[in-house]
Amino acid sequence: MMTDNEIIYLDNNATTQLDPAVIEEMLPFLTKYYGNPSSGYGFAAMARKAINLARERLAALLGCEPTEIVFTSGGTESNNAVINSVLQLEPRGKNVITSAVEHSAVLRPCQDLAKRGCLVSFLNVDSHGDLDLGELEAAIRPETTFVSIMWANNETGVVFPIEKIAEICREKRVLFHTDAVQATGKIPMSLRDTPINFLSLSAHKFHGPKGVGALYVNRQTRFSPLVAGGGQENERRGGTENVASIVGLGKAAEVALKYLREDKCNIRSMRDRFEKSVLGAVNGTSVNGAGATRLPNTSSVSFEGIESSAALLLLDREGICCSAGSACRTGSQEASHVLRAMNPSEDGARRSLRFSLGRFTTDAEIDCAIEVVPKVIEKLRQSVGRTPVAAAL
Ligand SMILES: *Cc1c(COP(=O)(O)O)cnc(C)c1O
Repeated sequence: MMTDNEIIYLDNNATTQLDPAVIEEMLPFLTKYYGNPSSGYGFAAMARKAINLARERLAALLGCEPTEIVFTSGGTESNNAVINSVLQLEPRGKNVITSAVEHSAVLRPCQDLAKRGCLVSFLNVDSHGDLDLGELEAAIRPETTFVSIMWANNETGVVFPIEKIAEICREKRVLFHTDAVQATGKIPMSLRDTPINFLSLSAHKFHGPKGVGALYVNRQTRFSPLVAGGGQENERRGGTENVASIVGLGKAAEVALKYLREDKCNIRSMRDRFEKSVLGAVNGTSVNGAGATRLPNTSSVSFEGIESSAALLLLDREGICCSAGSACRTGSQEASHVLRAMNPSEDGARRSLRFSLGRFTTDAEIDCAIEVVPKVIEKLRQSVGRTPVAAAL
């Protein structure tokens, strides 16, 4: 069994380590300042002020107004809240457009809409993982009310041209939502300059706590709450605020903005070094999405002649945490819908591994991964003919 300090964590698109500065900021709100932010006395105002500060910090990261932010329980709730709101407020519109490579937190609610009689178009991607914007434009019809396209893909790191997509939607007068859970804190954003109606994000993907996220709702866009209750979040999300977690989200946003501005983090160079070394050391290897714009931290690699589930088992034994496709799919035998969409005729989806770096990834860890990954692939290839899992055991 691996102890905690022996692991090499290369699964930051699944979740990230809490930044120590985030924990420090949260602690007083788990201990001393336990007041309900809605209460009238001075003691509770501590919590209320802390939430306001978190809102300002997140607004600074997104380049929007604090009043445009609604705190939620995470990316999944934010996505569901948007889809619910659009359908509540635009009951006539029957056509919704999304992509085939969305996270399940968009795909599943959209599939449910389709079952309820909506016409949902799932736009395909090419072999690089890119969308055809002409196809998007052509798909928007008079009865289209809503387009939802993710900013960056969780499996491949492919970044979609969100500014252009937002512009197309504005011209065609349809509402536009982006699931920006993977993009937030990793690439610069200015929502003031981009005609986006809704944006979802989640704290635990950028070194904040799990179970808290936010929804950006443009101040000119109507919104109907998914969670009705007390008047919290300016009547947009009921329920007593998750104060400590919201404080943590705010701090994580502040730190992320600082790193983005200083641009001193060498995540991209570590990722590039990892890819170059692995591609050089192992033949029959390719990077999924290599031809597209990608996040600086993600490396999705396809290895000929292996089964990713067996590779994960061996890498786990070496203390390397990574994944095949997305974390949510672990345990299911279904191949990644994202990689299948990029390469429908190939079996690349079954032989790909995703390595995703974070702020706490070190050069020494990358050195170790560069040594271990080729060995594991070699070992798996030598055991051809035996069943993949048996070969790993
Ligand atoms: C992780 C993730 C989500 C879900 O966010 P939670 O806060 O875990 O609910 C949604 N979309 C994308 C792209 C993600 O990577």
